Formats: sequence, structure tokens, C-alpha cells
Amino acid sequence: MKGDQCEFCKGEMEQRRILARFRFKGQTIYVENVPAWVCNRCGEQYFEAPVYKHLEDIARQRERIQRVISFPLAEFDAAIA
Ligand SMILES: [Zn+2]
Repeated sequence: MKGDQCEFCKGEMEQRRILARFRFKGQTIYVENVPAWVCNRCGEQYFEAPVYKHLEDIARQRERIQRVISFPLAEFDAAIA
């Protein structure tokens, strides 16, 4: 993929580590130090398939952590009512 052109502006794609932002099941997820291809002209970002899959794994794990945290809060509310 090195030396590929951006499909939007024909700029050159460079590999960088970025703060990636992507949508997963209606949530916006941020992950630091993600290897990505970035256009040096317009800033368009591409993730390679294994990288994207790993981001999805992180998002799924985050979803599971949030459920564990929110469960005792829901119990606390119920106790007040
Ligand atoms: Zn571009």
C-alpha cells in the first residue's frame, strides 16, 4: 500500500500512528496510536483490514466494560425508588 494515491485528491498516502475515531453501533470510539494510512494532502484516513478488525474488538470490549459499570448504578437507583 506504500506509495498508493488517495482516491479523492491523488495525494500520497503515508503510514502514521493516529488518534482514530470511528463509529461502532451508534457510539463514537476513540483509540490512540492506531496504525493508519493518511493522505498528506487532504488528510483522508484508511485502516487496513486487520487494524479495523482490532478496533472493533476494542469497541466490543469497551461495550462489555460499560455494561458492568452501569449495572450497580441501576441497582442503586432501584433501591431509592
Ligand atoms: Zn487525499
